[in-house]
Amino acid sequence: MRITKLTTYRLAPRWMFLKIDTDEGISGWGEPVIEGKARSVEAAVHEFEPYLIGQDPSRINDLWQVMYRGGFYRGGAILMSAIAGIDQALWDIKGKALGAPVYELLGGLVRDKMKVYSWVGGDRPADVIRDIKRLREGGFDTFKMNGSEEMGLIDSARKVDQAVARIAEIREAFGHDIEFGIDFHGRIGAPMAKVMLKALEPYRPLFVEEPVLAEQDETYARLAEHTAIPLAAGERMYSRFEFKRVFQAGGLSIVQPDLSHAGGITECLKIASMAEAYDVALAPHCPLGPIALAACLQVDFVSHNAVLQEQSMGIHYNQGGELLDYVLNKEDFHIENGYIAPLPKPGLGVVVDEEKVIEASQRAPDWRNPLWRHEDGSVAEW
Ligand SMILES: [Mg+2]
Repeated sequence: MRITKLTTYRLAPRWMFLKIDTDEGISGWGEPVIEGKARSVEAAVHEFEPYLIGQDPSRINDLWQVMYRGGFYRGGAILMSAIAGIDQALWDIKGKALGAPVYELLGGLVRDKMKVYSWVGGDRPADVIRDIKRLREGGFDTFKMNGSEEMGLIDSARKVDQAVARIAEIREAFGHDIEFGIDFHGRIGAPMAKVMLKALEPYRPLFVEEPVLAEQDETYARLAEHTAIPLAAGERMYSRFEFKRVFQAGGLSIVQPDLSHAGGITECLKIASMAEAYDVALAPHCPLGPIALAACLQVDFVSHNAVLQEQSMGIHYNQGGELLDYVLNKEDFHIENGYIAPLPKPGLGVVVDEEKVIEASQRAPDWRNPLWRHEDGSVAEW
């Protein structure tokens, strides 16, 4: 079998799908994208074409190394996302060619069902209690929300109190019938992260995500010494070579590599194994589309330390497109009592509605995250 063609489709809300065709009529789908930089990743995907066209798609390990090492310069959000989507599509082809789901090719299931959670509250957390009530009816019992809006490097007790009051209200409304993680989203610097973690501790969140930005990863170990809340991070780390530093330094209880940003299934499986060796849990980042989610689930179902899976149904970013809009086998993504079953179909387990993808790609918006500024006019982390 030989790779014949790579086709990319940018789509609402902020996704990109990749289709890899072969000369035997089997095609695979991947989702290479960095939110807000879809065109850059698209260019990177097509720059890999000379390394892929005419090659045997079953040699995923070799093609991965060719893409990673073959170009001299490596790593980073754009290149690793391009590799990620290509890798997903190659696994999809392999599974379809062999008539088996990818998790079977990786050694088989380590669990019967995977815990998933839902976002609530949007960019500037609001109406969280109403949203949780609604989502509980849809089968969710675990949630994640942003922890704060803009926060200065040193900020007021008033702002901390506002953020903590919102969390207190949730615990008051639902007790411990629900679980939730709190995403600091890199909005908070190290000085205020310490203050916030201390103030939030009585409400016992499942985890705090990106307590500080990944570029301050040396801070995680120090923060962890000051709090019993498990700390999570990893959506802005792109390879095992970046993750190895945080494993060595300690501090994280959960790593959250993104299957569409960190080199795909091939790389994230290795990151998951490294995490297991450090007794660190895995919770893949996935605010993206159905192919990215399906790729995450392949790794979750073969990784003993996978504890939680993010997914984007109803997420605040999904303007103009929903998780299952381009999926024909919607029933396979059914969530019951907060769990999803292994996707039963060969490959990644997603049957893509190609006609709809082609049609929607004609009017793809260029999504960008908002640019926030502090009250004094300086740029704030979003
Ligand atoms: Mg996050």
